[in-house]
Amino acid sequence: MPLPDTLECDTCETEVAGDEAIRRETIGDLDPMKWQTLCCPNCGNRLKTVFVGDE
Ligand SMILES: [Zn+2]
Repeated sequence: MPLPDTLECDTCETEVAGDEAIRRETIGDLDPMKWQTLCCPNCGNRLKTVFVGDE
């Protein structure tokens, strides 16, 4: 799954480009090599969890 082009942060209402979002490990049991959480670079809010296993 490609990264989304843009994400919108509900918290600070910033539009974040997919490649500018901060990547973090997911919370929980998901494999961190396959799943990462994209976070807002402005406020740190979690935006989306994406599948990166095919990168
Ligand atoms: Zn934000």
